[in-house]
Amino acid sequence: MTAACIFRRIAARESPAEIEYEDAEVLAFKDIYPKAPIHLLIIPKRHIESLVVLEEADLALVGKCLLVARKLGEAYGVAQRGYRVNCNCGPEGGQVVYHLHFHFMAGRRGS
Ligand code: AMP
Repeated sequence: MTAACIFRRIAARESPAEIEYEDAEVLAFKDIYPKAPIHLLIIPKRHIESLVVLEEADLALVGKCLLVARKLGEAYGVAQRGYRVNCNCGPEGGQVVYHLHFHFMAGRRGS
Protein backbone atom coordinates (compact mmCIF):
# COMPACT_ATOMS: atom_id res chain seq x y z
CA MET A 1 0.00 0.00 0.00
CA THR A 2 1.35 3.44 -0.88
CA ALA A 3 1.96 6.40 1.41
CA ALA A 4 -1.03 8.07 -0.22
CA CYS A 5 -3.27 5.54 1.54
CA ILE A 6 -2.04 6.43 5.02
CA PHE A 7 -5.28 8.12 6.10
CA ARG A 8 -7.33 5.19 4.91
CA ARG A 9 -5.08 2.98 7.02
CA ILE A 10 -5.54 5.27 10.02
CA ALA A 11 -9.32 5.21 9.51
CA ALA A 12 -9.17 1.41 9.47
CA ARG A 13 -7.00 1.48 12.62
CA GLU A 14 -4.22 -0.28 10.72
CA SER A 15 -1.81 2.61 11.33
CA PRO A 16 -1.39 4.52 14.58
CA ALA A 17 -2.63 8.06 15.15
CA GLU A 18 -3.45 10.26 18.11
CA ILE A 19 -7.20 10.24 17.68
CA GLU A 20 -9.06 13.21 19.15
CA TYR A 21 -12.54 12.56 17.80
CA GLU A 22 -14.35 9.63 16.24
CA ASP A 23 -17.87 8.79 15.17
CA ALA A 24 -19.29 6.37 12.62
CA GLU A 25 -18.25 8.50 9.64
CA VAL A 26 -15.57 10.97 10.68
CA LEU A 27 -12.22 10.79 12.41
CA ALA A 28 -9.97 13.57 13.72
CA PHE A 29 -6.38 13.03 14.78
CA LYS A 30 -3.24 15.05 15.47
CA ASP A 31 -1.11 16.05 12.52
CA ILE A 32 2.20 14.27 12.82
CA TYR A 33 4.10 17.46 11.83
CA PRO A 34 2.05 20.22 13.50
CA LYS A 35 2.24 23.67 11.94
CA ALA A 36 0.28 25.33 14.76
CA PRO A 37 0.01 24.73 18.53
CA ILE A 38 -3.18 22.78 17.81
CA HIS A 39 -3.10 21.04 14.45
CA LEU A 40 -5.60 18.27 13.77
CA LEU A 41 -6.74 16.55 10.63
CA ILE A 42 -10.41 15.80 10.09
CA ILE A 43 -11.16 13.04 7.61
CA PRO A 44 -14.19 11.15 6.36
CA LYS A 45 -13.67 7.45 7.03
CA ARG A 46 -14.97 6.68 3.58
CA HIS A 47 -12.28 7.24 1.00
CA ILE A 48 -12.72 10.38 -1.09
CA GLU A 49 -9.55 11.27 -2.89
CA SER A 50 -9.82 15.04 -2.98
CA LEU A 51 -12.19 17.98 -3.35
CA VAL A 52 -11.48 17.61 -7.05
CA VAL A 53 -13.64 14.48 -7.22
CA LEU A 54 -16.32 15.56 -4.72
CA GLU A 55 -19.85 14.59 -5.72
CA GLU A 56 -23.34 15.61 -4.60
CA ALA A 57 -23.59 12.32 -2.70
CA ASP A 58 -20.60 13.37 -0.56
CA LEU A 59 -22.01 16.67 0.64
CA ALA A 60 -23.53 15.46 3.89
CA LEU A 61 -20.26 13.77 4.79
CA VAL A 62 -18.27 16.92 4.12
CA GLY A 63 -20.78 18.87 6.20
CA LYS A 64 -20.20 16.43 9.04
CA CYS A 65 -16.46 17.03 8.81
CA LEU A 66 -17.08 20.76 9.22
CA LEU A 67 -19.41 20.12 12.15
CA VAL A 68 -16.60 18.14 13.76
CA ALA A 69 -14.40 21.22 13.31
CA ARG A 70 -16.94 23.19 15.32
CA LYS A 71 -16.96 20.49 18.03
CA LEU A 72 -13.16 20.47 18.16
CA GLY A 73 -13.14 24.25 18.50
CA GLU A 74 -15.41 23.92 21.51
CA ALA A 75 -13.52 20.96 22.99
CA TYR A 76 -10.20 22.80 22.72
CA GLY A 77 -11.68 26.03 24.09
CA VAL A 78 -10.81 28.05 21.01
CA ALA A 79 -14.29 28.71 19.63
CA GLN A 80 -14.21 32.37 20.69
CA ARG A 81 -10.59 33.07 19.76
CA GLY A 82 -11.04 31.29 16.46
CA TYR A 83 -9.21 28.79 14.32
CA ARG A 84 -8.47 27.96 10.73
CA VAL A 85 -9.94 25.12 8.72
CA ASN A 86 -8.43 24.51 5.34
CA CYS A 87 -8.41 21.91 2.66
CA ASN A 88 -5.47 21.58 0.29
CA CYS A 89 -6.61 20.49 -3.10
CA GLY A 90 -4.46 18.94 -5.82
CA PRO A 91 -0.76 19.41 -6.54
CA GLU A 92 -0.75 23.19 -6.81
CA GLY A 93 -3.03 23.41 -3.77
CA GLY A 94 -0.39 21.64 -1.72
CA GLN A 95 -2.23 18.35 -1.27
CA VAL A 96 0.20 15.59 -0.37
CA VAL A 97 -2.11 12.91 1.03
CA TYR A 98 -4.84 11.92 -1.41
CA HIS A 99 -7.60 11.18 1.07
CA LEU A 100 -9.84 14.20 1.62
CA HIS A 101 -8.92 15.97 4.85
CA PHE A 102 -9.44 19.28 6.58
CA HIS A 103 -6.65 20.88 8.58
CA PHE A 104 -7.86 22.32 11.89
CA MET A 105 -5.31 24.81 13.22
CA ALA A 106 -5.53 26.94 16.31
CA GLY A 107 -3.61 28.45 19.18
CA ARG A 108 -1.77 31.21 17.38
CA ARG A 109 -2.94 34.28 15.47
CA GLY A 110 -3.17 33.33 11.81
CA SER A 111 -2.67 29.64 12.55
P1 AMP B 1 -1.78 17.93 2.83
O1 AMP B 1 -0.56 18.67 2.39
O2 AMP B 1 -2.99 18.82 2.93
O3 AMP B 1 -2.03 16.68 2.01
O4 AMP B 1 -1.50 17.51 4.32
C1 AMP B 1 -1.13 16.26 4.73
C2 AMP B 1 -0.85 16.36 6.20
O5 AMP B 1 -0.82 15.05 6.72
C3 AMP B 1 0.49 17.01 6.56
O6 AMP B 1 0.26 18.13 7.40
C4 AMP B 1 1.26 15.90 7.27
O7 AMP B 1 2.03 16.39 8.33
C5 AMP B 1 0.14 14.99 7.75
N1 AMP B 1 0.45 13.58 7.92
C6 AMP B 1 1.07 12.76 7.03
N2 AMP B 1 1.16 11.51 7.52
C7 AMP B 1 0.56 11.54 8.74
C8 AMP B 1 0.33 10.55 9.76
N3 AMP B 1 0.72 9.29 9.61
N4 AMP B 1 -0.30 10.94 10.89
C9 AMP B 1 -0.71 12.21 11.04
N5 AMP B 1 -0.52 13.19 10.13
C10 AMP B 1 0.12 12.86 9.00
